[in-house]
Amino acid sequence: RAKKSLDEKICYYEANMDEASRARRAMARDLWVALEQGQFFLNFQIQRAVSSDEITGYEVLLRWQHPTQGLIPPATFIPVAEECGAISAIGDWVLEHACREAVLWNLQPRIAVNLSALQLSNAGLVEKVRAVLAATGLPAHRLELEVTETALIADRDRALHLLQQLKAMGVTIAMDDFGSGYSSLETLRSFPFDKIKLDRSFINELETSQQAKAFVRAILALGHSLNVAVLAEGVETEAQRAILEEEGCQEGQGYLFGYPALLSRLGELDQAVPPHEVQRRA
Ligand code: C2E
Ligand code: MG
Ligand code: MG
Ligand code: MG
Repeated sequence: RAKKSLDEKICYYEANMDEASRARRAMARDLWVALEQGQFFLNFQIQRAVSSDEITGYEVLLRWQHPTQGLIPPATFIPVAEECGAISAIGDWVLEHACREAVLWNLQPRIAVNLSALQLSNAGLVEKVRAVLAATGLPAHRLELEVTETALIADRDRALHLLQQLKAMGVTIAMDDFGSGYSSLETLRSFPFDKIKLDRSFINELETSQQAKAFVRAILALGHSLNVAVLAEGVETEAQRAILEEEGCQEGQGYLFGYPALLSRLGELDQAVPPHEVQRRA
C-alpha cells in the first residue's frame, strides 16, 4: 500500500516535471520568435533624488507582449532565456534599443540597463557595448549597467575583468538588489561598483522594522565611506521616502516616484495607475 502510494507520487512528480519542462521548451522557442517578430518592448522607470525632484536616471525594464498569453513579466521569462541561451541575443536587443531611445529622448543624466549572468560571462560584451555606443552616439557616461551578485558568481574573474574594461570606457556599474543575495560584502570589496541599489525588501520594512532601518543606515554609511552612491529600490510611500531622507539616502526608485512606463507616457499624470496597466504597449 505504502509502495503503491510512493509510485503514484513519483508518477505524479514525473508527469508534472514533464509538463514544466515542456512549458519551458515552448517558452524558449517562443522567445526566439518574439525577437524576430518584435514582441519585446521597453519600459523606463525614473530614478530620482530622495529630497528633490531632480532626476538621476532611468532604469530600462524589458517587457514581452506574447501574442496569446499577453504580457509576460521578466521574472518569468528571463530565467528561461538564460537557460536556453536566448538572453544573449535578447540582451543585445535591449542594449541597442535602450541606447537608441536614450539618444532620441535625450534622457539625462543616464539610463540603467540590466545585465544577466550569461552576458557577463561572454567575452564579447565589451565590444558589444562599445559598438552600440558608437552606433547610437550615446556617450559612455550616460550608460549604467546593473548586475546582481548571483550574476557574478559563475565566473568571478572574468566578470571582474569585463566590468573593469567597461568602467575604463566610462560606463558606470551598479550592484542591483544589494542585500538579497549572499557574500555581499565580499562582492562589494572586489568589484568596482559606482552604485549600490539597496534591495526593495529593506525599504518595505523601513516603517515597521528597526532592524531593516539599522541595515539601511549601515549600508548608507558603508557607501558613504567607500564613495559609492546608494539608491533605495521600491520606494512606495511618503513615509519611506521621509525616513530615507532623514537617514541621508540620496537616490530612490519606486512607485512613489513613478511606475515603469513607455517613454512616450512617462511624463503623463495618468501614469499613476497600476504598472500592469501602463506597461501595455500604446
Ligand atoms: P530589477 O532590476 O531589480 O528591477 C526592478 C523591479 O522592481 C522591476 O520589476 C520594477 O517594475 C519593480 N519595481 C519598481 N518600483 C517598485 C516598487 O515601488 N514596488 C515594487 N513592488 N516593485 C517595484 P520588473 O520590471 O518586473 O523586472 C523584474 C526583474 O527582471 C528586474 O529586477 C531584473 O532583474 C529583470 N529584468 C528586467 N528587464 C531586464 C533586462 O532587460 N535584462 C535582464 N537581464 N533582466 C531584466
Ligand atoms: Mg535592475
Ligand atoms: Mg533591483
Ligand atoms: Mg530584482
